[in-house]
Amino acid sequence: MPDSHSIDAEHYDVAIIGAGVAGSMAAVLCSRAGLRTVLLERHRFPRHKICGCCVNGRAFQMLRRAGLESGLRQLQPATTSSLAVRYRGRKLNVSMPPGLAVSRRRMDQWLVDEAIASGCQFVDEVTASVQPVPSESDEVPVAILDSCKAGYPEERIIQLRFANCHSPNGAKPADDDLSASRDLHVCARVVLVCDGLGHPSLHLLPSFKAEPEAGSRIGLGAVFPRMAADAWIRREEVLMAVATQGYAGVVQIEDNQFNLAAAIDPSCLNKSNSPLDCLANLFHSAGVPMPQELRNAAIKGTVPLTRSARRIAGHRLFLLGDATGYVEPFTGEGMAWALTAATITVPFVVSAIRNGWSDELINRWQASSSETTRTQQKVCRLLSATLRHPWLLPPVMTTCQFFPSLTQRVVNRINRVPKALEIV
Ligand SMILES: Cc1cc2nc3c(=O)[nH]c(=O)nc-3n(C[C@H](O)[C@H](O)[C@H](O)COP(=O)(O)OP(=O)(O)OC[C@H]3O[C@@H](n4cnc5c(N)ncnc54)[C@H](O)[C@@H]3O)c2cc1C
Repeated sequence: MPDSHSIDAEHYDVAIIGAGVAGSMAAVLCSRAGLRTVLLERHRFPRHKICGCCVNGRAFQMLRRAGLESGLRQLQPATTSSLAVRYRGRKLNVSMPPGLAVSRRRMDQWLVDEAIASGCQFVDEVTASVQPVPSESDEVPVAILDSCKAGYPEERIIQLRFANCHSPNGAKPADDDLSASRDLHVCARVVLVCDGLGHPSLHLLPSFKAEPEAGSRIGLGAVFPRMAADAWIRREEVLMAVATQGYAGVVQIEDNQFNLAAAIDPSCLNKSNSPLDCLANLFHSAGVPMPQELRNAAIKGTVPLTRSARRIAGHRLFLLGDATGYVEPFTGEGMAWALTAATITVPFVVSAIRNGWSDELINRWQASSSETTRTQQKVCRLLSATLRHPWLLPPVMTTCQFFPSLTQRVVNRINRVPKALEIV
């Protein structure tokens, strides 16, 4: 097994920052295309990630298109077939195309393993930070100008900061060796920024800043065992408890566990004694029993969710997945957006490596990206806006009950693969 704490080379065709679904999928596809690829991840893998864990129809199709369908099934995901929305004791049941639910801990590790098997080098416990090129900042460190050609260099430089316990060559430094260097630079001809909300690896490039929108909700998540008494949720059901303070989705995942993922108004969280208290109030308002085992679970939080990056591409740089911005998790589409972005981007990366980088390449990529991903986020924006006005929910729920075909159209649209990516 290769060591995941050391870097083999200084120069790569592609460096991918972040081993979530966007980064790992891109790593699989770049490596398969014969590109020398490194995948850099801040956390030690496998790691927990706050997510609703629902792999919807479109996400599944993207994995299938890459020949990864059977691998996903081997993770023993739970299946989903309906959505149950609960608001103030009212119920709306919507049937959904068959989907899968699996923890991100298991799913992301599997995708990383697929990337390694395709020839990618994976390095975890390393924080990557993209260095500006002269056109992006006046403050380019001299060392960087020396090591790469100035102007619009042929490679981008990434600074790597290794977690304390590792040095760049993979050796564990002796306890008393405080001088051991833990920083390193690597160069790549294309960098894919797949580091999630707020894209922290671009903190030295102010023009890419993505501030959260005012009033943005934050995510909460936990995994806990399913008990025999948990009859309030049916098999294959995604239960969505909705209240003024936000919403929480619960779904069964592998190994008879539940996954909870919530989007909460930070003001409600501030008024509560704890995240658990806040969730208990939310379940109570929605008229759903609080899952018992949640009381013993570790509840984690995210940074504010809703944001949109000012720029999504730069010199030899593409942003993918949540790094480009995120709406809200209600429609459970984030992984589909991330996998789609990786799928449409890799041919542009291959073209950049083989034929050179150009502004025209960025323009074509941006057009393709907005066609396949950004326009798909419109439904999610609309639904999220509805949820912000809870007085709108009862009439919307009634309409959905009386016009199931309308609801079904929305559900189908969310699960639909963009035309350009359909498997023929
Ligand atoms: C509450 C909630 C519920 C959700 N429910 C669903 C759902 O049911 N279905 C669905 O499809 N989507 C859902 N989503 C959305 C989904 O989780 C995201 O859209 C998806 O994870 C985006 O993938 P990504 O690869 O872009 O980013 P991430 O999965 O966030 O991966 C980014 C990775 O980059 C790493 N990283 C960050 N900074 C650095 C750095 N400087 N150097 C190296 N590595 C770095 C991080 O550690 C992380 O592993 C939900 C989200 C939330 C918050």
